[in-house]
Amino acid sequence: MADQGQSLWFAFQGERLLVFEDGTVRVPLADSPEELDLDIRFRWEIGNLDGHACWAVEVDPDAGPPAGLEFRDLRSFFFGVDEDFFGMAGRAKQIVGWHTTHRFCGRCGGETERVPGELAMRCTRCGMMHFPRLSPAAIVLVKREDRILLAHSPGFPQGLYSVLAGFVEPGESIEEAVVREVREEVGIEVTNVRYFGSQPWPFPNSLMIGFTADYTGGDLAPEPGEIEDAGWYTADDLPQLPPKISIARAMIDDFAKQQGLDPEELKTPHSGPV
Ligand SMILES: [Zn+2]
Repeated sequence: MADQGQSLWFAFQGERLLVFEDGTVRVPLADSPEELDLDIRFRWEIGNLDGHACWAVEVDPDAGPPAGLEFRDLRSFFFGVDEDFFGMAGRAKQIVGWHTTHRFCGRCGGETERVPGELAMRCTRCGMMHFPRLSPAAIVLVKREDRILLAHSPGFPQGLYSVLAGFVEPGESIEEAVVREVREEVGIEVTNVRYFGSQPWPFPNSLMIGFTADYTGGDLAPEPGEIEDAGWYTADDLPQLPPKISIARAMIDDFAKQQGLDPEELKTPHSGPV
């Protein structure tokens, strides 16, 4: 058993997390970043995992990884880590990303400084406060009797289909965003928008808010550039699906269960971006 006094260090250099592998992907456990020989710019305590305090750490962009460790893109872990680890790494990534991109004020261009004890940066020239930004996105499983709508977007791995998603626009409720996104992306109308659940998604700073909705009318007309293909699928004939770690997959699995299928039998890719 490791010393409970030590912390887990979620150290990011840009988009990449400092890890090592001993069967599974892990982050280093140590008393301090200095003990790991890490040249850091910023740290912030982000929670607790397996009895250890967890820290988000911004590593100097020019620093090489310490011996035995490597920097790896967080997206490469979709298939190899558990949900709690992924969640903590995502939290660290967003906080480090916020700190990295707010060194200067967006209003006047002045340098910013940390506000002690707060997750905030203050402009040293005009005083404007800068906080981590979250971008809410609606994600929706559209049902039509015993079928669901799945789509393939450019940028998905070949053959992978998922539910629709899009960012909420200023002045819009999340339910309105669901209806608009579905209409824009595939040209159909939906109703009965019901909350399913939510998931932080750190690419770069989304909060995915999941809904189910019922089809009411229209023919599928995928929006060029956004959707390459879309179709209606029954639970026993689903295409390749997103990994378990995503809310999209949780929604599809829930549908499959309602239809009497075992979600473990569904098709999932073993690697690649989502
Ligand atoms: Zn300013």
